[in-house]
Amino acid sequence: MKILVVEDEEALADALSEILKRNKYSVDTVYDGEDGLAYAMTDLYDCMILDIMLPKMNGLDVLRIMRKKHISTPVLLLTAKSEVEDKINGLDSGADDFLTKPFISGELLARVRALTRRKGEVVTDEFTFGDVALNKSTFSLSKEGQFVKLSLKEYQIMEMLMANPKQLIPKERFIEKIWGYESDVEYNNVEVYISFLRKKLHVIGSSVIIKTVRGVGYFLEGGE
Ligand code: CA
Repeated sequence: MKILVVEDEEALADALSEILKRNKYSVDTVYDGEDGLAYAMTDLYDCMILDIMLPKMNGLDVLRIMRKKHISTPVLLLTAKSEVEDKINGLDSGADDFLTKPFISGELLARVRALTRRKGEVVTDEFTFGDVALNKSTFSLSKEGQFVKLSLKEYQIMEMLMANPKQLIPKERFIEKIWGYESDVEYNNVEVYISFLRKKLHVIGSSVIIKTVRGVGYFLEGGE
């Protein structure tokens, strides 16, 4: 999957690129609207992350011209907080989704996944541990035909647990990865999602257990 990032704040552009590359996307980054349009016109991309306020040509103009030329690449527009008007203009210009700055990587990746899925790509990635499977494309947890949907946060927590099976993951790590460094989320928030996940594992009859190490964190156990 190939993604085009058009963002003039270099630190943010580089951070976006870094997050996406870490998640196995290939990424091209450009820093102004004219380059953005030129790259977009190659029609090589599965998704485009487009800032609105850009030098040389603003993001909404890039988007309008692209759409006029029948480039249908899904576009995720970056907007500043409270720019409601930008969202309306963005939709009129042919944007597929929005991401409000500042955002966390989990949210970015979820939006990108949703947009690239729309293009008909089949995401087969699945984590398995013990008797359960976590499906990346349906956000569901399943065991032998029994399945249950997860919310985004539940999915992200379960993904971290299953990607590091039997390893103790500190609560801080969940907060950093899912809510972001700046977040003032309370630790008991993580506990709430863990308790939801335990109920869902129970619902599908899994023998996988999320173990608590009091005051430290969680790990996955069992399921044989
Ligand atoms: Ca900008």
